[in-house]
Parts: sequence; structure tokens; C-alpha cells
Amino acid sequence: MKALLVGEYRDGKLLGSTYELLAFAQKIGAQAAMFLVGSEAALPQFDGPLYLADAKAAGEFNPALHKQLLLQVIEQEQPELIVLAHSSYGWDLAPRLALALKCAQISEVLGYAEGAFLAPACNAKLRRTLKPATARAVVTLQAGAFSLPGEPAGTPQVKPLSIQAAVGGLEFVGYEAAQKAAVDLSRAEIIVSAGRGIGKKENVEMIAALAKALGGELGASRPVVDAEWVDHSRQVGTTGQTVAPRLYVACGISGAIQHLAGMKKSDFILAVNTDKEAPIGEVADVLVVADVKQFAPALAEKASTL
Ligand code: FAD
Repeated sequence: MKALLVGEYRDGKLLGSTYELLAFAQKIGAQAAMFLVGSEAALPQFDGPLYLADAKAAGEFNPALHKQLLLQVIEQEQPELIVLAHSSYGWDLAPRLALALKCAQISEVLGYAEGAFLAPACNAKLRRTLKPATARAVVTLQAGAFSLPGEPAGTPQVKPLSIQAAVGGLEFVGYEAAQKAAVDLSRAEIIVSAGRGIGKKENVEMIAALAKALGGELGASRPVVDAEWVDHSRQVGTTGQTVAPRLYVACGISGAIQHLAGMKKSDFILAVNTDKEAPIGEVADVLVVADVKQFAPALAEKASTL
């Protein structure tokens, strides 16, 4: 199988997600070619053809123009799979490509086996297996779902792409940095995070009290932040902060891949969940099957007497 990987580049740097695309291609045994709007100064390490459009001429984020360039490469390479990261760049470009190619598009792929893709469903509560109904498919990969077994290696054969004219009425103006997180969780040694399982806003105080008793910081999963129980500056995960504390306590957090991507490198993970089958158990060093409303105050009381 042939796969065309759409690498990502930002502000002069190749993004790490590009290597996740390579890891996926390796995992499924696909022959990989890559498309990148980037620069000669920041090339990915891999052996294979690299179609390179200069970011200064093509704009780092211009899905209309990038789609046109990609269609030229697809015409030449004839890949069965076009693979992008499930990022703001990927989820903008992927449907445009699928529409132009009249082929299937599958988002947030977590795995692959025997021609079928594993992807989340129902707000990541379930996983489904999808087989594209067309011979070709455009897929986006969940952040953190695939990683290379070792260090990347190799030298691509660069094939420069020429940019004729701007298309689609879009012009890349630039990026604007989001407000810096008020709390830098990446430096915290202990983090106690609240998930939807805490039940209601009033219970955040109970989790914050446990964090305080353990000498740590309060963190949160995305639903807790979306419900405005906790500020976004404390969100852990792909759209929050990436943390690696000595101790991470996950309170009422199921363990969706977007949350795990932000905390799975913690030294020791203690999870509290009423569901003994919760996916957080796969990464936790200890899974306490209990109601967090009983466990958190009890642990906080114990910790404050030490
Ligand atoms: P749920 O999945 O609802 O889990 C609640 C858990 O609490 C369950 O396991 C349940 O058994 C348990 N529970 C219930 N009651 C109790 C109780 N009394 N005591 C103990 N346990 C209890 N999520 C993030 O966290 N961070 C991100 O950065 C992030 N980015 C995302 C980006 C994208 C593009 C997308 C699509 C999703 C993202 N998500 C992110 C959302 C993610 O998919 C999950 O929906 C989310 O992580 C689930 O949060 P949760 O575990 O708190 O809630």
C-alpha cells in the first residue's frame, strides 16, 4: 500500500506530529511519500520522496492552495491513503481533499488492522471500526496514537514544488499566540486532576483540597474546563498542557487518548474511578475503584496528618 503523509511545519520548525504519520505508515507496512509546506532547513528524517513547497511562498496555513498542491502530488504518486495529523491544519485540509478526490474520509484514527481503521465514537466513550467504501481514503490521526519505536533516521529525496499563483481567495497572515497559561503545570511535581466523574462544580474544591494536602497543583480534564468548573490554564491533554509530574492523581477521569497524551509520561499515576474497566487503568500504576467523593477527602485528611 502507498501512503502520502502530509507533514506539518510551523514557525521554522517541523512539528513532531510528522513523525507520528511516519510511525503509522511503518506500523501498517505502507510505502511512504511525504508532502510538506516547509523549508529545506527543517526536513524530516526518513527515506522516501518528499514533495516540498516553500512555506514563504505557499503560506504555512492555506488549505485552498495546499489542497491544489497536494492534488498534483496525488496525481503523480497515486497513493491509496492520504494521512494527516488530527490538528487544526489536518482537519481543515482532510475534508477538502476527500471531496476533491470523491473518496472516504476517516477522522481521529487510533489504530489499523486488516483494512479497517479504529476511531472514537460518542465523545470518545466508544470505539468503532471503519472500513472505507472507496479504494482510496483520507485519514487523520489522533495526536499521540502512534510513535516511532526508535529515533527517526534517513534522508528524503526532496522534490521541490513550484507555486504558480494564490488560489481560493485565502491569504496566510500569520499566527497569534494564545494567552500564556496562567499556571505552568509542566513544572509541577504533583498534579491532582478533576474529571467529569467529580459530578458538579462544587466538588472542584474537594479535588483542590487534595492537591493542596499533597503539595501539588490542581489539573482538569476538558469537560470540566468546558463546563467552566476550572480555568483552561489547568487543562491537561492535547488541547491543554502536557505534563510529566512525579505523581499524577486522576480523579473521575476515564482516560481518553487526548487526556492520556498530556499526562502518560508521569512517573506514577494514581487513578480513582468507579469503573474498574475505565481505560485510565491501562496507564495507571494504581487504580482505586471507588467513589472519588469518598476517596479524595479521605486521602486529603490522611495526607494532612503526615
Ligand atoms: P468522562 O470520559 O466522562 O469520564 C468520567 C469518568 O469518571 C468515567 O470513567 C466514570 O467511570 C468516572 N466516574 C463517574 N463517577 C465517578 C465517581 N463518583 N467517582 C469516581 N469516578 C467516577 N480531553 C482532555 O482531558 N484534555 C484535552 O486536552 C482534550 N483535547 C481534546 C481534543 C479533541 C480534538 C477532542 C475531540 C477531544 C479532546 N478531549 C480532551 C476530550 C476527550 O476525548 C474526553 O472526552 C475527555 O478527556 C473525557 O474527560 P473525562 O475523563 O473527565 O470524562
